[in-house]
Amino acid sequence: MAMRDKVNIKCPDCGQNIEVEQWTAVNGDKNPQQKLKILKGTLFSFKCKKCGRDNVVGYPMLYSDPKENYMIWLVFDDEEVSHVTDYFKKSKNEFNENGENVDPECRQRIVRDSHRLREKIMIFDSGFDDKIIEIAKLAYAQSAQRQIGDDRIAAAFFSSEDGENRIEMYTESGGALVSKLSKEIYDRLEDMYGGKASYAEDRVYAIDDVWALNLLRAAQR
Ligand SMILES: [Zn+2]
Repeated sequence: MAMRDKVNIKCPDCGQNIEVEQWTAVNGDKNPQQKLKILKGTLFSFKCKKCGRDNVVGYPMLYSDPKENYMIWLVFDDEEVSHVTDYFKKSKNEFNENGENVDPECRQRIVRDSHRLREKIMIFDSGFDDKIIEIAKLAYAQSAQRQIGDDRIAAAFFSSEDGENRIEMYTESGGALVSKLSKEIYDRLEDMYGGKASYAEDRVYAIDDVWALNLLRAAQR
């Protein structure tokens, strides 16, 4: 598998041709610079030399970290999602594209945008279970929603900086709220849902807010 490609894109503002480097596979161990760029949010942006516009170019990528034992596919359309899902299902008991035996314990995930890729890396590297984090995000968003009244929480992200774990929430009107993730709340949610959450490990690769909502609804029944 080629790790990186050179691709020509056209600046949408001035039409200038820009040659950009696209990474189709990033290994967190072997490509620390690219990993840092993903975490900073700069791997997918390219400045136009002519007009200075920052262009963001999304493209499919496999991010893997053999040490922490996880792999995350960043994909953009439904067809790619079903392709990667098939690949993951096969890789559980066969071999991957490089002929390597895939560890059945390896966490395999699919994300749909680069912000979610960044978030997953931070969750796993901080030693958390992403399923419990998704449930915690819903709990934090619900409690924040009660405080902000008419405005609505549109998205929530886990983030970790200098050892501090946080839940960042963004409202529809463009506001932002940040809460420190309490270890106590995380542990309590893990006690409540840890066992239930693991049932999905085998066949569900998109662990996100929709997944967490479905789990909570099923648990209430
Ligand atoms: Zn330009």
